[in-house]
Amino acid sequence: MEKYWNIFTSSFSDYGNYLWREILNPSWGNYFYWLLGLSLFFWLLEVVVPWRKGQPVIRQDFWLDGFYMFFNFFLFSLVGFNAISNIGVEAFNDFLALFGIQNLVAFEIQSWPLWAQLLTLFVLRDFIQWNVHRLLHRSDYLWRFHKVHHSVQQMGFAAHLRFHWGETIVYRTIEYIPLAMIGFGIQDFFLVHIFATAIGHFNHSNLHIPLGPLRYLFNNPQMHIWHHAKRLPNRYGANYGISLSVWDYLFGTAYMPKDGRDIELGFDEVEVYPKSFLEQQFQPFKERTAIPLQEVVPAKEKQFIPAEEVDQLN
Ligand SMILES: [Zn+2]
Ligand SMILES: [Zn+2]
Repeated sequence: MEKYWNIFTSSFSDYGNYLWREILNPSWGNYFYWLLGLSLFFWLLEVVVPWRKGQPVIRQDFWLDGFYMFFNFFLFSLVGFNAISNIGVEAFNDFLALFGIQNLVAFEIQSWPLWAQLLTLFVLRDFIQWNVHRLLHRSDYLWRFHKVHHSVQQMGFAAHLRFHWGETIVYRTIEYIPLAMIGFGIQDFFLVHIFATAIGHFNHSNLHIPLGPLRYLFNNPQMHIWHHAKRLPNRYGANYGISLSVWDYLFGTAYMPKDGRDIELGFDEVEVYPKSFLEQQFQPFKERTAIPLQEVVPAKEKQFIPAEEVDQLN
């Protein structure tokens, strides 16, 4: 028990020291300054070449989302996630040891060239996350947490990191075993994380940058805005892609019926959803009944229009 207590207490001080060091020492390997730099980059692009020209530069909930960004990237780890996850991992390893299992590594990808390791990690993780995201929409209980992300009514890059900390726990828990199987402790996880953060910022940004055929591979604002649409083709939504859009095309969940620049965002009764950070933290625990999800589009409006045609509408 003492071992777990030590892990618990040192997790706070270790992460606190780490975060402080990050802030004091700008460098290329520093999450804090990458997050700041990427955010400034997308914000400036939104100012210079906005997709919705009438959208204010400081849009609705800009500062709320700015706080969420910092909270979900750093503070949640500081206030508890690191302690909980470190204990969880230790307990899980102790449990495996009961069966004589030292670790879960099934594929020794460390011997592969670096680019192949990074690509495998990126693609595998993105596919797992696509599935988790679908689950967040399919489970009434998890949807209560995911609603925080869908409460965005005016879209911009910072909306990317508006999500409830409950989601972090769901994603990390489900990712853990498959990533442990490929020995995910690889050093260059950093690059994958920064790349995914950049695409996430891009998906949510108020930008229209044509990707050409790459739009079938990478997620983009024109596709992701339909994920946030108030009216959806079915109860569980569409376009679950995180970094890659290819999963939605492969599994038939892609949906872009027309140019989505000015569509209404959110869900049924989003107008009365709590607006402050603190209230949003408690909201999922308060919702007791399964609330209907988004409004559903009548079948005749559902037909799928290929992305080329949608592009021509822009
Ligand atoms: Zn979603
Ligand atoms: Zn989103």
